Amino acid sequence: LIEANAKEIAALETLDNGKPIRDALTGDVPGTASLYRYYAGWADKIHGKTLPVAGPFHTYTRHEPVGVCGQIIPWNFPMLMQAYKWAPALACGCTSVLKPAEQTPLSALRIAELAMEAGFPDGVVNVVPGFGPTAGAAIAHHADVDKVAFTGSTAVGKAILKASAETNLKRVSLELGGKSPNIIFADADVETAAKFAYFALFFNMGQCCCAGSRLFVEDKVYDQVLNLITDRAKKQKIGDPFDHATTHGPQVSQEQCNTVMRYISAGQKEGARCVTGGKRVDRAGYFIEPTVFDNVRDEMTIAKEEIFGPVLTVLRFKDVDEVIQRGNNTVYGLAAAVWTKDIGKAHRLAAGLKAGTVWINCYNVFDNAAPFGGYKMSGIGRELGEYALSNYTEVKTVVTAIG
Ligand code: NAP
Ligand code: MG
Repeated sequence: LIEANAKEIAALETLDNGKPIRDALTGDVPGTASLYRYYAGWADKIHGKTLPVAGPFHTYTRHEPVGVCGQIIPWNFPMLMQAYKWAPALACGCTSVLKPAEQTPLSALRIAELAMEAGFPDGVVNVVPGFGPTAGAAIAHHADVDKVAFTGSTAVGKAILKASAETNLKRVSLELGGKSPNIIFADADVETAAKFAYFALFFNMGQCCCAGSRLFVEDKVYDQVLNLITDRAKKQKIGDPFDHATTHGPQVSQEQCNTVMRYISAGQKEGARCVTGGKRVDRAGYFIEPTVFDNVRDEMTIAKEEIFGPVLTVLRFKDVDEVIQRGNNTVYGLAAAVWTKDIGKAHRLAAGLKAGTVWINCYNVFDNAAPFGGYKMSGIGRELGEYALSNYTEVKTVVTAIG
């Protein structure tokens, strides 16, 4: 049904979020359908183990549904986030009460309608549009909610954990923000690396939890990479997200637009050099030019805080140990990437970087089967793949005396 209604659902997503329609059509909608298919495949493959314990006992485990799941999602990939939450929960036999972000409730409601059309029993999936401090907090505090899965800001993630601690110790999984290092060595295919470094940050107008927002470039190729990225930034087609040629749309809201503009002025005040962009686009809507900062130091606000907008900070480095240390010098740990043709160096970085995903010579490669989630303040637990099933099951041990 999602595929049959692809054009309509993509349009709802673009209407709500402002993302270019071509991204919604080629990314969000097929990605959503494919995720439901993937977890549908798990539904009859979730089982416990038989355990060879000491003594005359037959012991086995059952993986039971955790129960009623409260699921609170953000506005950057609304329908995909709904699928990240519903698909594994349903495969495990749970029910869901989902709160979409106030900015983007439409695709969640339409997909819920399609679930009714598909014949889901009443009450299995529920959508409660509303605001975080009311509808969201009610879910987080509710004594009959057994588990909360949340994606969004670190501040709200902490509030969810606290609400659990103060009420029924409901299970909590969190997917929060990041300040992911993307590291280009001089021995990489520099043109490809620069092309993907652009994509790593500016995709979805920078509104990605795993955005490669700290671009570390080895000294020897620094100027070359900076020029390639700046050229690409200037060539974007900024405009109406419903125009199929548009590659760069608006930020989701006035609030987010203001936040991003505040970060741009912080960058300028603290002495970073704005190489391109830095301004609102002169047209109605929350459009911000793709912005690149050079001369960035690690301690600057724009190098430390998650901007969640089209602002790239470029940092210079000289050697491997230095860049591992600086890459890890953040409270976050969601993703990282390394560009090099030296396989040993690539894997040394993959082991040394504290991040839930490390991409080598690629970026933003997601797969239904590959787990995704954060170290440190980027979250708790993993989504996607077999790993996500543990968010939605309790393990019960059954012991029978047979002696
Ligand atoms: P947010 O406030 O964390 O919102 C995420 C979700 O949590 C929304 O559905 C929100 O409801 C809800 N919420 C807010 N306060 C709540 C509370 N007290 N209890 C329960 N639920 C609550 O994020 P935002 O304001 O939309 O964006 C702020 C920043 O968060 C961004 O700039 C970015 O840094 C980060 N962010 C990260 C991700 C990610 O993918 N990790 C996604 C979006 C944003 P409302 O509808 O009322 O907002
Ligand atoms: Mg909010």
